[in-house]
Amino acid sequence: MQSATVFNVQKFSLNDGPGIRTVVFLKGCPLRCTWCANPESQMRAPQLEWKNSACIGCGACLKAAPGAEAAVHANKRHVDVHSLAGDSNEGRAAVSACPTHALTCTGETKTVEEVLRVCLQDKPFYEDSGGGVTLSGGEALVWPEFCEELLGRLHEEGVDTCVETEAHVSPKVFRHMAPLFDHMLVDLKHVDANKIFAHTAGQANLMLDNLRWAIANHPDVLPRTPVIPGFNDTNQDARAMAVWLRDAGAIRVQLLPFHNFGENKYELLGMDYALRGAKNLRSENLEEYRQVFVDEGIQAFF
Ligand code: SF4
Repeated sequence: MQSATVFNVQKFSLNDGPGIRTVVFLKGCPLRCTWCANPESQMRAPQLEWKNSACIGCGACLKAAPGAEAAVHANKRHVDVHSLAGDSNEGRAAVSACPTHALTCTGETKTVEEVLRVCLQDKPFYEDSGGGVTLSGGEALVWPEFCEELLGRLHEEGVDTCVETEAHVSPKVFRHMAPLFDHMLVDLKHVDANKIFAHTAGQANLMLDNLRWAIANHPDVLPRTPVIPGFNDTNQDARAMAVWLRDAGAIRVQLLPFHNFGENKYELLGMDYALRGAKNLRSENLEEYRQVFVDEGIQAFF
């Protein structure tokens, strides 16, 4: 049986495909976008997190994990989250020893059976609402064997399936996996390869070729564009993406205004956040931006 690193299972989601859905978030993403709202999703393996406001500096974590390196913040000496794997013996020991839950682990290895059991708990809600299960991340498709086995079991149970993907996987994997989903929500971050290169660790052509293929071959693809300050939030950016979508045969796009809700997570993980201090974008201030897509024949909505 396949397994994967899962960092969250969110029930009763209304924004990740049709109806009421359970969203399974898998760890691992090759892109590392500068605006990422889920930095805990980037690394494939379970990771330690440390919360300054909860730490009392007792040092119990360091005693429990003598192989760990120490970090010091605000006179509090604690395990350096980068020095231990979250699923190592010492990582687990350090987490267990922490009396205030300041040190925790994000991500857990789960089998298909374990994830399926949780997903099926809400089957009546899926049936009543036209919902189902959405695989997300990170990039869910970096776990193709796990996803394929889970999707097969969900379909045996009559559960509708959806994926949220950046399409940054090999065309071979993408074309094999795409037909296994009833719905696809696929990111279109930009069409400018230089901007993609500057703000992510990804390759524009790979994502664009996969999205173009999905639009042409899958019955239900919704391109989605995260609108990010300083990356793709000008009307020129909108026009370039709108023209690309029109030429690829798309008729609609969902716009996702930037939010900074993930900012605190960077501190927990000991990571830098490139957009620290950036203000949230609001849909009411992006009407002109949305209209650019409409003018090019693309139904754009928030
Ligand atoms: S055990 Fe917990 S509270 Fe104590 S130093 Fe380590 S992280 Fe801080």
